[in-house]
Amino acid sequence: MCTLRPYLALVLVALFAVPAIGSEPPAHEGRESHACPLDGTATFPIGSDGKTSPKLYTDLEIPTQAYTNLVVACPKCGYASWTSDFSRPVDAATEGWVKANLATTARRAAEDPAWAYRHHVQLLNRRNAPLRERIGALVFQSYVLKRRRPRGGSDPNVEREIATVRRDITTLLAQGLREDPPKAARTRLEWAYLLGELTRLVGEPANAKPLLADVCAQKDTLGLTLGKMACDQADKAAHKDTFEEYRDGLINPAAAIAYKPAEPPAAPTDSAPTPPK
Ligand SMILES: [Zn+2]
Repeated sequence: MCTLRPYLALVLVALFAVPAIGSEPPAHEGRESHACPLDGTATFPIGSDGKTSPKLYTDLEIPTQAYTNLVVACPKCGYASWTSDFSRPVDAATEGWVKANLATTARRAAEDPAWAYRHHVQLLNRRNAPLRERIGALVFQSYVLKRRRPRGGSDPNVEREIATVRRDITTLLAQGLREDPPKAARTRLEWAYLLGELTRLVGEPANAKPLLADVCAQKDTLGLTLGKMACDQADKAAHKDTFEEYRDGLINPAAAIAYKPAEPPAAPTDSAPTPPK
């Protein structure tokens, strides 16, 4: 995946971010509040990085960063949604489900984007939201989790969470490619690339190999950068290489000394979200 664009975007945001003057509490400076549709609590997006005018994420362009301002979770009840449609009325059944299942981790979701996405994804699944929307939310969640990786090392719990989310993404991407593939050949190949690469990264190189080799064979449609990446990753999969190059330890040679490999993925812990009924 592209590793430069997130940093460029962050730099641009830092350059143009202007602190708000006025009535809002300091912690929420510059951020618009959104009323919770369940209890009216004034709720704020956690981050201010990423897109300046958050909109509903439905087009599956492959996102390259976390966009923590795209999701909001209520600190009181834990209801979470895209910022752009957060205040939309919620039906009684969903309201009851939120109160029973999300309230205990509401504060956490309001402060931690990984938990905000976790709540959001559960609600998207519950209401059977379009595949693309669910994949988009999961991809963002995986990017938020990637930021948790300690500099120069890895944390088995973080790696396990990332692997869990990535497996969910691959399941939905495979379903999307079967049932509702993108019309544009290039977009379809981008999905296929993401499916192949995530399959490799969750430790299934044998399954990743044919997927990535197929994308590599169509590299002319995919464009130079992604085409070359597909062929490189196909080659890695063929050699059973499941390592991810993007780690702080590799960017920062001094920190690389502290690197220790992640433990193999284990069964989900009890901190994993409860699947919606
Ligand atoms: Zn609420």
